Amino acid sequence: MAAAVELDRIDKTYGTTATLRAASLDVQPGEFMTLVGPSGCGKSTLLRIIAGLLPQSGGEVRIDGQCVDHLPPKARDIAMVFQSYALYPHMSVAENIATPLKVRHLPRLARMPGIGRLMPGQSANRQAISDKVRKTAELVEIDGLLDRRPAALSGGQRQRVALARAIIRDPQVFLMDEPLSNLDARLRVTMRAEITALHRRLGATFIYVTHDQTEAMTMSSRVAVMMDGGIVQCGTPQALYDAPEDIRVARFIGSPEINVVASDEVIGWGAEAVGLSGLLQRPLQMAFRPEALRLGTDLAALRLRARIERSERLGHDVLLFLRTTVEGSMLTARLTAAEFTALSAPDGELTFSLRPADLLAFGADGKRLHLPGLGTPSVREVAHVG
Ligand code: ADP
Ligand code: MG
Repeated sequence: MAAAVELDRIDKTYGTTATLRAASLDVQPGEFMTLVGPSGCGKSTLLRIIAGLLPQSGGEVRIDGQCVDHLPPKARDIAMVFQSYALYPHMSVAENIATPLKVRHLPRLARMPGIGRLMPGQSANRQAISDKVRKTAELVEIDGLLDRRPAALSGGQRQRVALARAIIRDPQVFLMDEPLSNLDARLRVTMRAEITALHRRLGATFIYVTHDQTEAMTMSSRVAVMMDGGIVQCGTPQALYDAPEDIRVARFIGSPEINVVASDEVIGWGAEAVGLSGLLQRPLQMAFRPEALRLGTDLAALRLRARIERSERLGHDVLLFLRTTVEGSMLTARLTAAEFTALSAPDGELTFSLRPADLLAFGADGKRLHLPGLGTPSVREVAHVG
């Protein structure tokens, strides 16, 4: 089961500080939506408001079209997974996973140790819970660990227990707040894939919070970029990468970071010759991805000279950290290792080309300007296919 989640101009103020400012977002039923943004931008606050753990100062939260602002967390049909797994140390894995069901289905007295067994009519219920615990544990591959205590588990295994405890409630909406940030890099990559697979299997709505743009890009159907308490842009990972509408989104999405230079410098790269001079009359910030810089000249492209200050080999690719000859700006380029090895004089000045379609223009307010001939990488994609 999956529900739509709508955030309608959510505000949150602490004293005089506005932590959230009119944050709006429509999450479709069954979607994997990621909220990504730098630390402190308000992601956890927004997630806690959706869960009902924190009241907002203004705006409305709707689940399946119904306002839930008056409902306590338990009545919202939501499960939340945190960065700290918050497992009960004195309980086994099985008991930890079963907790949400016991809270829901067994009367208070029957949950007390020793007493439950003496109460009539509870044994069928217990069997049903234990079956469901086993099934859920299988889903996240910890069915061999059910008798262990959390202390005897690795970080990744504990995270799986926390996931199982959320799954067993069969909620319409899963909220996850940086659930992988305590794991080492290799395990994070594995768990990323597992959480996306889990999302497909469960079909529920996922709202996932992370400060890590790679996680956001690799896991999500759509990504909402948050800055300073507001949602700046929401779109597919590819749309955010190719067509950021705000310079902060352009800089936050993509690794290594997008190149940004003043339009004056771009004029010096031969903007007039490629028909761009008219576009560059006012001071703009011009941005382009590292892979948009190509070695050598190209008649239809801008042309610039730069020296390699530093290089980083990534295996198949090499990152070049360049300083431009005229203005001395720092740029990043991404070449294949073969291209890099083939350079005859890597210490000298090199010529790079840059196609106008790979350039994005941003005004003084940081908002994207849609100028003719710029920022149309889709044209290039079509050309590749043909
Ligand atoms: P994120 O999860 O994106 O890192 P948070 O939602 O945790 O950000 O916090 C957003 C901002 O709200 C931070 O600047 C934080 O200091 C502030 N904040 C969070 N909780 C409180 C609180 N109880 N009182 C005052 N300020 C708070
Ligand atoms: Mg947080």
